[in-house]
Order: sequence, then C-alpha cells, then structure tokens
Amino acid sequence: MIGAGPGDPRLITVGGKEALECADVVVYDRLAHPVLLNYAPASAERVYVGKQADRHAMKQENINELLAERASRGLRVARLKGGDPFVFGRGGEEAEYLRERGIRWVLIPGVTSAIAAPAYAGIPVTHRDAASSFAVITGHERDDRRESGTRVAGQSEGRRQWDKIANAADTLLFLMGVENLTEIVSELQKHGRSPATPVALVRWGTWAGQQETLVSTLEHVVDDVQNAQFKAPAVTIVGEVVGLRERLRWFDLGPLSGKRIVVTRAREQASAFAAKLRDRNAEPIEFPLIRASEPEDNYAALDREILATPVPSWLLFLSISSVDAFFARLDCLGKDARHLSSSRIGCVGSATAKSLAKYGVRADFVSRGTTGNALGEELPGDLIDQRVLIPRAAIGDEGILSILKERGAHVTAPTAYCTVVDGENVDEIRARLADGTIDVLTFTSSSTVRNFVTALGTADLPENICVACIGPSTAETARTVLGREPEIVAEDHTVEGLLVALEKYFAAKDFADVPELRN
Ligand code: SAH
Repeated sequence: MIGAGPGDPRLITVGGKEALECADVVVYDRLAHPVLLNYAPASAERVYVGKQADRHAMKQENINELLAERASRGLRVARLKGGDPFVFGRGGEEAEYLRERGIRWVLIPGVTSAIAAPAYAGIPVTHRDAASSFAVITGHERDDRRESGTRVAGQSEGRRQWDKIANAADTLLFLMGVENLTEIVSELQKHGRSPATPVALVRWGTWAGQQETLVSTLEHVVDDVQNAQFKAPAVTIVGEVVGLRERLRWFDLGPLSGKRIVVTRAREQASAFAAKLRDRNAEPIEFPLIRASEPEDNYAALDREILATPVPSWLLFLSISSVDAFFARLDCLGKDARHLSSSRIGCVGSATAKSLAKYGVRADFVSRGTTGNALGEELPGDLIDQRVLIPRAAIGDEGILSILKERGAHVTAPTAYCTVVDGENVDEIRARLADGTIDVLTFTSSSTVRNFVTALGTADLPENICVACIGPSTAETARTVLGREPEIVAEDHTVEGLLVALEKYFAAKDFADVPELRN
C-alpha cells in the first residue's frame, strides 16, 4: 500500500517509487498523479478504480477483492492511493481485508494533502504566533460510513459532536468538506468560532497549473465558494494561520503560475524541463515528438569508427542524444569509457557536458557557443591531419564538418541515431488545442517544429496560443512551417534560457493586462 502524495509527482517517497518499480499490478485512484504510473514496468497491469465524492468507479468490496485476487496469484500488487493511505483513504479497511485472508502487505506512508495542499498555498498548519495545534477532520462522515458498511469503533452513530470538533485545535483541516461546507461553517460558528475566523480552500493542491486557492472568513465563505463555483477536491482550512498566506505564498506566485505549456522534446529530456515548469506552478504537457532510434545501417559505420585504431585525437558530441547513443553502443560492443582514454573529448554547451559526466567522462573542451559551428571554430589547437570523430544524428548539421575540414582535420561523422516522429499523445494535444486549454507551445529545435506539424497536420493554431522557440534557427523554421511569428525567442539558447524568456514574456504581459498598471 503506497501513499502517492497529494499530487505533485515529486512528492511520492523514495520507498513508494521503488515499490512501483517492481510492481506486477498497479491499482490506483483519481487523486494519485497519473505520471507516477510511469515508474511501474511497462508490462505491469494498471487498474483504475477511480474515486469521487459522490460515485465510485469501483465499489470498495470490488477493490478489496481485486487486491486479494491478484495477490493470491502471487503477483506483487501496488495499491497507490492519493496522499497518505491511512488518512481517510480507507487504506485501513483494505489492509484489514487482506490480513483476514492471510495476505501479507506493507505500508509506505505518503505526504497527506491535509498538510501539503495548505503548504503549497503558503499556509502552515501550525505557527508559533498563530496556532499550536491542528486537527484533520472529514467533512463527509456519514456518507463515508454508509459506503464502507462498517463502523469504526468509538465513533458515535448520530450527528457529529460539533462542540468537540469546533474546539479540537487552533487550525481545523477539513477533507471532503466542500459539499457540506454550509453545515460545517454554521456548526463551527454555533460552537464558538467567530464569524471573522479566516478560512481558505485549496483545490487540487500541489497539482501544477491546477491549484486554486480561495480565501474568506467563516461568515462569507459559503457565498464566496458559490460565486467562484469552487469545486472539490479541496482542503478547507479554518483558523488564523490562513492569514499567513499573505506573507508565505510561493507556489502560485510568479508569471508562469497556471500556464499550460506544451513541452515538445524527446521524453528523457522533457522531464527535466517539465520539472522546472512544475516548480513554477505551470502545467507541463509533455508531447514527446522525437525519439532516438537506431540508424538505418544498424550501427555499421559507428561500430567501425569506434573499433578503428588508432583512436581519434578528438571525439566530439553535438547533443545529449549523441552522447547517450554513443555510450549505449560502446556498451553493446563490450567497452566502456576507458576505451576513450587517449582521445580528447569536446562537446557543445554545458548541457551536453553534463550528460557526459553521467558516464564518468569529463569533457576536455566545452564550447561557449551552443551550435556545432561554434564548437568547430572554438576547438583549440592545431587540427592539421588530426582524426576527428563526430557520432551524430542521421540528419546532422553540416557546418561543423566543413569548418573542421578547412582547419585540416580528417573528419568522420557516422550516424549514431535517427530521430523518428513519436507524437504518442497526439489526440490529447489536438483536443486541448481545440478547447483552448493550452497557453504555450515550446520548441527546442527545428525538428520539433517540423514533427509537430507532421504529427498534428497543418491545422491553424488558435490565435491566443503563444509559440516559444529556443533560438533563431528554430524560430525561422516556425515562421516557415507554422506560418506565424513566434512570440518568444530565447536569448540564451538553452532550456534555462527558454524558461527565462517565458517568464519575462508573461511578466510583461501580466503587467499589461492589469489596467491600472498600464498607464
Ligand atoms: N488520503 C488522502 C485523502 C483522501 S480523502 C490524503 O492523505 O491526502 C479525499 C479528500 O482529500 C478530497 O476530498 C480532498 O478533500 C482531499 N484532497 C486530496 N488530494 C487533494 C489535493 N491535491 N488538493 C486538495 N485536496 C485534496
């Protein structure tokens, strides 16, 4: 039984991730982030048993039976539950059911939304000046018990003891409370909480791009929630700590907050960019358009060059993919980084250098410029009659080859990988383009622009979508292929540079959108 954490996929524990990695079956519900399923082996069975306040995709008895049935077949079952499994997750019931059938289980606790959702809204549940205790309370008690069919010992059967709840702690945290907000609010006031007590609701807390917070008071919150059409799932926070949000707000601040940004890179590289966007409360929508695959000659040319003697004086890498492809091949040939010990190694830019470091290799030379041409020009020393090996993409940049040849080098550039169009979630992207739930398309190379059009067709992009390119040559391709001027072109042609450019653009735009600031 694994706590998935409240939403942000990085809030699963190391233990939770490890357990998913060796699961045969994953049984998960709505509040666990779907990205977490990627940790499970591709061969694992994935069963969605969804859960909403008012309807269960699968009844609790059926979930119990499913877990027991798979486990008794000897399969390793990962029961992935939102937040912490033992905080209103009915994890206790599932575990009891298994125990009664002699099935062994372990629990990996999770970060509960009761604490994390307020935290991501800048509300600490305790604070030296504002609260020395907190209580977590269900806002849905009776339904919860009716569904479970069992009664928890010690709980009263009748109405809740509001006098106790109202004064249980300085900070009250209600889960599943949106539907019963009217009752909660009136009972708390009836039992001594002042109408002026601050209240906040945090919805989809920690979910990048989706978290929303409403701040009010006991007196006004019902109307405010109604007017804002504020919906579950939300944590309701009652108490003075709510006021701290003014000073401690962090996650949902900043120009990229709430922006829905398509990330069009190869999947491995997309995740780093996506994580940076999540940090800024932007929702990354991964659209991995290109995937590295084996070259048409099945590595014949690359193998020949790797095994040739003497080894080249320089081995140059123009991209992260070429580093990964080269080292994968080296491994296939039964060799490792020691094979390169007498070659000097050069690469384009610091990101490629970092990827070399993953293989225990320190580049002898890293170009300042981020293009192949820059590396060709900057490479130090006399190159006359030196052998230079450049394992690279099937359709590669020719510029560096002629620059190095002009400098007198003997250059070979075998194909280390081809890029193929991937476009796995093309239907989702098409639907989101149509219903206007995408704010930005990011392109990190000319081929991502071309592949975008190959995957989606040349359908006109909605006007209000912003196109962001990593540099001038990608922007040029966007102009020709998409037929429009990109709104954003990064000055520093790296992912960090693109991020800075996005922030700058939206900061300026937000400023322009606020009427009183415009003049
Ligand atoms: N075991 C879970 C809680 C399950 S009960 C945990 O520890 O977090 C389901 C309720 O949890 C929802 O109705 C909502 O009140 C709350 N909840 C879960 N995830 C949430 C999130 N990301 N943001 C706000 N509330 C959330």
